[in-house]
Amino acid sequence: EREQYLQSERLNVINELSASVSHEIRNPLTVTSGFLQLLKESKTVQAGDKEYINYSLNELKRAEKIISDFLSFAKPQAKNMITTNLENEIEYVNNIMVPYAHQHLVEIEFTFENDLTRKFDQNQIQQCLINLYKNAIEAMKEKGGILSIDVFSRKPYIIICIKDTGEGMTEEEASLIGKPYYSTKKEGTGLGMVMVYSVVDKIGGRIEIDSEKGVGTTFQLKIPVK
Ligand code: ADP
Ligand code: MG
Repeated sequence: EREQYLQSERLNVINELSASVSHEIRNPLTVTSGFLQLLKESKTVQAGDKEYINYSLNELKRAEKIISDFLSFAKPQAKNMITTNLENEIEYVNNIMVPYAHQHLVEIEFTFENDLTRKFDQNQIQQCLINLYKNAIEAMKEKGGILSIDVFSRKPYIIICIKDTGEGMTEEEASLIGKPYYSTKKEGTGLGMVMVYSVVDKIGGRIEIDSEKGVGTTFQLKIPVK
């Protein structure tokens, strides 16, 4: 009992740390990119040297991507394990993701059943949703589409359905999801879904994938209510 408590306290500390560390790392990355950008536009820097600047900018962009996919995009919270209404979390994530969605001609729709409250690690549930939204939007970037989020209760589970009208996957592709570094994107990290699986697993949930090539994909998160 006590051992278990200690273990989960430690995990909480680690989660909190990773959220704030990534928040702290993001700032210097942004500042450094800004200065490199200035150098890139400078008239006194030679063309050959500008190539080094470009490499550096790309590497910084990659570091930023790994942080966003794997560590945390979510705001570090003072308290992590809290009882929260999922509607709040989804509204928060919608707000963060709307600009990215619109940039790719994606509309976000959502339906919600009242009072879906459960104890969650707020950082992690947000991060998980952000990764799923990002993938869905990226799957629709060729011609836009609709991202629908439906959250409802089907006892003893809370179901979170995330559906896109994007490129879809073959059965084989879908079976590779969540494998570390598996990515079909030019600049993918292959870490986003690793994060999603580990979070859902930790709260005793399951993920079902329903996908059809050229039609779209639905991710269904089944989370047990304790
Ligand atoms: P990344 O997004 O960096 O590639 P992820 O772990 O987030 O890494 O996703 C792994 C791979 O799973 C993606 O590269 C893509 O091929 C596939 N994938 C994930 N979500 C979707 C989706 N909604 N539609 C189609 N393919 C998807
Ligand atoms: Mg991703």
